[in-house]
Amino acid sequence: MSIHTEDSYRHKGMRKQLVDLLRTKNISDESVLAAINEVPRHVFLDTSFEELAYQDIAFPIGSGQTISQPSTVAFQTQLLSVSKGLKVLEIGTGSGYQACVLAAMGAKVFTIERQRNLFFKTKEILELLPFHIKTFLGDGFEGLPTYAPFDRIIITAGAPEIPQKLLEQLKPGGVMVIPMDKNDEEQHQKMLRITKMTDSTIQQEEFGDFKFVPMLKEIGND
Ligand code: SAH
Repeated sequence: MSIHTEDSYRHKGMRKQLVDLLRTKNISDESVLAAINEVPRHVFLDTSFEELAYQDIAFPIGSGQTISQPSTVAFQTQLLSVSKGLKVLEIGTGSGYQACVLAAMGAKVFTIERQRNLFFKTKEILELLPFHIKTFLGDGFEGLPTYAPFDRIIITAGAPEIPQKLLEQLKPGGVMVIPMDKNDEEQHQKMLRITKMTDSTIQQEEFGDFKFVPMLKEIGND
């Protein structure tokens, strides 16, 4: 893969059009739209797919994984309600795009990837960009106890359950956004927003169906 970080007027123009498209898809949080407008998504894809970088589609990024569709990234980010200075844990670094969107909003981003090859490839790309993201090779089910608690936790793979350890690493008053397996034939997930109340009880809201790659246990090369 050849990485190119050049961000031309043409790229910026395509990004602006993507932002306009997202407005028509119920993304209204201006801070989310500003972040999408800022992060050069084409840098996360191979040069030959540049034209597709600003269309609202998911895309293979190697190692059998995908960069999420921009409208899904925007939707999850909007649900997470991020503001400057919040500590955010992402499970499923993948391409690194979602992590950069969070960082562009001023969040302190910690992100975990379990797929070894992808982890190293993405780390290389992230080092070329002006976002300070802390990357970890590990199993997202375990979270990052050393850095806990977090204000926000975002899971970007289809989860079989709400990982208990992640709930424990969420601050009271914190929010977790998680696509949870519906166990239907098409292997869809329902998007959940979990709020940990100040008395540590849990409030759960549902936001429609999505399709993510599965959240798998343990570090691997598969
Ligand atoms: N947020 C990514 C999209 C991720 S696709 C982006 O912006 O591009 C989901 C990612 O989750 C994949 O890279 C997959 O390898 C990773 N993943 C799956 N199970 C995981 C786990 N238990 N811990 C950490 N990462 C995991």
